Amino acid sequence: LLAGPPGAGKSMLAKALPEIMPDLTPEEAVTVTKIHSVAGLLPKGSGLLKRRPFRAPHHTVTPAAMVGGGAIPKPGEITLAHRGVLFLDELPEFSAQVINVLRQPIEDGVINIARSGGTYRFPCRILLAAAMNLCQCGYWRSDWQHCQCTPYQRRQYVSKVNGPLLDRIDLFMPVQRVDIEDLARAGCEEAADSVKERVEEARKLQEKRLEEFGLATNSEMGPRELSTLLSISASGRRLLLDAYSRMKLSARAYYRVMRVAASIADLDQSSRIEEEHVAEALSYRQRILE
Ligand SMILES: [Zn+2]
Repeated sequence: LLAGPPGAGKSMLAKALPEIMPDLTPEEAVTVTKIHSVAGLLPKGSGLLKRRPFRAPHHTVTPAAMVGGGAIPKPGEITLAHRGVLFLDELPEFSAQVINVLRQPIEDGVINIARSGGTYRFPCRILLAAAMNLCQCGYWRSDWQHCQCTPYQRRQYVSKVNGPLLDRIDLFMPVQRVDIEDLARAGCEEAADSVKERVEEARKLQEKRLEEFGLATNSEMGPRELSTLLSISASGRRLLLDAYSRMKLSARAYYRVMRVAASIADLDQSSRIEEEHVAEALSYRQRILE
């Protein structure tokens, strides 16, 4: 979840996500192509789709368009984003029904649609990305323009997204507008290609660890795999348990922090989750919305 004032480049960052994700595997490419074909979205004469999908439905999207529907159900936005990114810009503007129908499929990676003729089953393993302002006017905690909202209005605005969906988000990222001089000062940024290489190396570690259990990524690990397959240092474990009670994490949030810490360790090419990896994972849970 990217949160910050307008002009901070939130949607630009989200759109760049597929560029740093590993290429589709041949099996993934076949599934993604099939989905787009069923939905009638495959350009004529195109072969296998190679790019990871990026879907950004408008906040006026209906529940049926989001998860799929119709007399003969067609895949919805969440299935069209399978193995790619589903981006919800202006998250608080989405209807409560749409957010509600997303919850279970995000967790399960599949969506079942019941019809009189039987049940349709669509895959939807996605990376969910979302963006929002921190208040109605957009400038709360902005360092360049004054926020016009009252504390009550701010609470109202943020409370639209509080709750079960937030519990399913791993990374909370505050963003600020970047100065034009900083943008012009080249040389310190890492190119997308080199980030992608690091992501691919991290994915290889995950595959090696999870292959024999029929899993591919850290995000697919359940509580049992998390407690048996990951090696975590004593100080890392202490920090995690301490945060569990101090930050009043739910059990689900606790496991989410573990998965994120595992991915940070993988990006670090570390075979063990260290204290610093847990600390970084916890920093992304920091409740920027409070
Ligand atoms: Zn405001």
